[in-house]
Amino acid sequence: MRLGIHVSIAGGMAKMAQTALDLGCEAVQIFSRSPRGGKAKEFSEPDVAQMKAIFKENDIWPVVVHVPYFLNLASSDPEKVGYSRDVLVEDLYRAQVLGAKYLVTHLGHKGKDEAPDSIEPLTRVVLSLENVLSRYSGPVKILLENTAGQGQEIGASFEALASIMAALPKDRVGACLDTCHAFAAGYDLRTKDSVDSVLDLFDATIGLSNLGAVHLNDCKSELGRHLDRHEMIGSGCIGEEGIEALINNPRLPRDLPGLLETPFDSLAAAKSSVETVKNLRARHAGSQH
Ligand SMILES: [Zn+2]
Ligand SMILES: [Zn+2]
Repeated sequence: MRLGIHVSIAGGMAKMAQTALDLGCEAVQIFSRSPRGGKAKEFSEPDVAQMKAIFKENDIWPVVVHVPYFLNLASSDPEKVGYSRDVLVEDLYRAQVLGAKYLVTHLGHKGKDEAPDSIEPLTRVVLSLENVLSRYSGPVKILLENTAGQGQEIGASFEALASIMAALPKDRVGACLDTCHAFAAGYDLRTKDSVDSVLDLFDATIGLSNLGAVHLNDCKSELGRHLDRHEMIGSGCIGEEGIEALINNPRLPRDLPGLLETPFDSLAAAKSSVETVKNLRARHAGSQH
């Protein structure tokens, strides 16, 4: 696994790249814009060129972009879903300008009156993605991220993601596995055996060959509670054993990005989080396939 962390773009792209380097990232995740809303700022060409030079020189890849939180591809409100599709298309182009390989998105939220296992919101996501793919034909691949199933959030089960992906071209839409979300949704990841079982389930539904990225997060809340609360690796309810088993799993490609989205209040803390996962990988150095 190529390890890294979500880095802020607040000071521009070159600064972000330098921060990723300082933190010891081998791969990196970013937002292409403010995740909270507003119009996206235009990139400065020299800034993007400098970012790419830093990544190239230091062998940092792939770049993964995460869409803003306010999108809802499952909305039944034409205006809301139209806006979400527009932002997704725009973010695909922005990700391409940045040289990103993947754009990660959540599916969205169902209506309050819809049943938890209702098929309609999933169908609306398929329609949204078909629309988006008809408007963007570049190289950036969309990754659908599993969710914790908090509130009206859809996409907590591997089956839900698989049912959407079945309707879309595999070379354009893959999956991102978030460990905190999976655990909150009831997928036990605490031991080597449980990780193997979850990977079996993943393979039988979504297919391991469709896995483009992993979000490495421990979880503050207990198994199956549907609470999306990221925790530092080893300090949450998943624990080091499961995360270590995943990072070093021989069934996963060695160049799969494993990205932390754990909270940190200083760059030193972020660096130490990246070191923690690197140490979990180093324990298996030489024994990896
Ligand atoms: Zn995530
Ligand atoms: Zn989360």
